[in-house]
Amino acid sequence: MAPENDLRHPYENHRQFLGLSKHTPARVSKNPRVISAYLNHAVQKRDQAQCTHQQEGKRCTERRWLDIHHKKPLSQGGQTTLENLTLLCRGHHQLLHH
Ligand SMILES: [Zn+2]
Ligand SMILES: [Zn+2]
Repeated sequence: MAPENDLRHPYENHRQFLGLSKHTPARVSKNPRVISAYLNHAVQKRDQAQCTHQQEGKRCTERRWLDIHHKKPLSQGGQTTLENLTLLCRGHHQLLHH
């Protein structure tokens, strides 16, 4: 699978969907709560579609029920960018939010 084709598709669809111009940076979404298909794809890829939660130096191996989590919450000025997003399984995601 060619990585380019892999990424371009959701990315272009998303642009069209939002009506963004070609000059709008891909990772800036009009609504920061909406994670674009492109970003979603990029996060999944970077984190190998696996929960990133670490416990005692071991990474969680969960690959199902994954959510995208903002490391720095939007309410605290966090942004919807690749750097601020991480993959968490549902269990660990709830752990962080409650
Ligand atoms: Zn979260
Ligand atoms: Zn986990």
